[in-house]
Amino acid sequence: VGVLENLTSGSNEGSDRHFDAQGSDLLDGLFAREFDTKKCASRFHSSMIRGASPYKPSSYLISRLRDYEKLHKRCGPRTTAYDQAMPQMKSSSSPGSSECKYVVWISYSGLGNRILTVAATFLYALLTDRVLLVDPGNDFPDLFCEPFPETSWLLPEDFPIRKQFDRLNQKSAASYGNMVKNKQTGRLQSHVYIHLAHDYGDHDKLFLCDEDQKRLENVPWLIMRTDNYFVPSLFLMQSFESELNKLFPQKETIFHHLGRYLFHPTNPVWGLIRRYYDAYLAKADQRIGIQVRTFDTGNGPFPYVMDQILSCTQRENLLPKVDSRGSSVADQPEDPKLRAVLMTSLLLGYSEKLRDVYWQNPTFNGDVIAVYQPSHEEFQQTEKKLHNQKAWAEMYLLSLCDVLVTSAWSTFGYVAQGLGGKTPWILYKPENRTMPDPPCRRALSMEPCFHAPPYYDCKAKKGIDTGAVVPHVRHCEDISWGLKVV
Ligand code: GDP
Repeated sequence: VGVLENLTSGSNEGSDRHFDAQGSDLLDGLFAREFDTKKCASRFHSSMIRGASPYKPSSYLISRLRDYEKLHKRCGPRTTAYDQAMPQMKSSSSPGSSECKYVVWISYSGLGNRILTVAATFLYALLTDRVLLVDPGNDFPDLFCEPFPETSWLLPEDFPIRKQFDRLNQKSAASYGNMVKNKQTGRLQSHVYIHLAHDYGDHDKLFLCDEDQKRLENVPWLIMRTDNYFVPSLFLMQSFESELNKLFPQKETIFHHLGRYLFHPTNPVWGLIRRYYDAYLAKADQRIGIQVRTFDTGNGPFPYVMDQILSCTQRENLLPKVDSRGSSVADQPEDPKLRAVLMTSLLLGYSEKLRDVYWQNPTFNGDVIAVYQPSHEEFQQTEKKLHNQKAWAEMYLLSLCDVLVTSAWSTFGYVAQGLGGKTPWILYKPENRTMPDPPCRRALSMEPCFHAPPYYDCKAKKGIDTGAVVPHVRHCEDISWGLKVV
């Protein structure tokens, strides 16, 4: 019987009572209690499967979140304050006084990237007293519950320039970077486009400088496009330093706490997660998540990636070695451990091979290895609803594993490790179609990597190695030029 059976059986009344009794402990006070338990079951049920996180949010973070919720309720869509701020969005006037300030997140890129950038943008909103509004894109409401009580984070459909989001890019004359480049910052309007996507230029990067933040402080509407987890650069800015230290005394827990606070699977996605977990993972003594994502061209599965998975998991003792001569049947221990491997990949080949290895050969220590893969979607299909629901369910299932092996460069894996609070082993990215040596290494922290950070000292106005400025912002294990908080 899986943990979830206890949760889903019995009357609603009984289960609601059960949650109320434990409600105050849910996510260590991370989220408010003014929610309907049935509209978004995952919000209440998830901590029952996950168990408590070993990382406690600071009381300061909790109080800032409660304050943020009040702000969002006062300034969110369909409020008087929102209606009052709207003309500032429409007009090309310079910033006037406005009760509420906003940062609008544009839906962009794969799901893992989107989850990370919403979290980064939310942290930016917290630090600058702005309200975060998310562009729903094709599927946001199908994937995530509302995180803030009695309001909505979804950008209303009639938002003035919503239909033009697709046209906002690095070249847009109205972007902050281009305004700086063309020396027009004296004429900043009441809405400014912030381009922080991977192709951003040196002038766009100035957004991550204290002086430029000062300039943008009174602009009521920032519209942001990003596919980068830019949090590590916020840690290099003096203006945010003391606040970040108070919010996150344990620095590597930023995405862990914010991710758990913000991203609750909707009931259909929770169904995908729950049914899979109960059917295949709940009974295991240990759950090992292996996320396989390759960026090589050509048709996989690639033999060097398979070798890498086997080499990493055996070398690091994550999975038992097998006796390929098959002679150890008689040595079975009385109480063998059942270890479930949850593999996620766009292709089926890797998990089939791993399953065969443990079917065709006995393990030396007698452990029983079961290998499962929920889907194999073959290629990325970001525009499809069920495809993204499966992707989200799989990231979440990985996050429920006790041990994680992830693929270099992949935000899909970063989401799983952060939500799960697990420091993964990272499979290095293969070069020249050969298995890397060593095949993997343990990450420095569970924080995601900022793939394209600026290399600029804003004060000295010259290039520097931003991975060598403070001890808690370092280069990533999987991308040498990236930055992560450790
Ligand atoms: P990244 O490209 O690895 O950084 O991760 P993203 O999530 O941003 O984009 C990859 C997209 O490809 C996902 O959102 C899914 O749509 C799809 N995808 C990649 N790997 C998997 C997988 O293991 N399972 C599923 N269901 N989808 C995947």
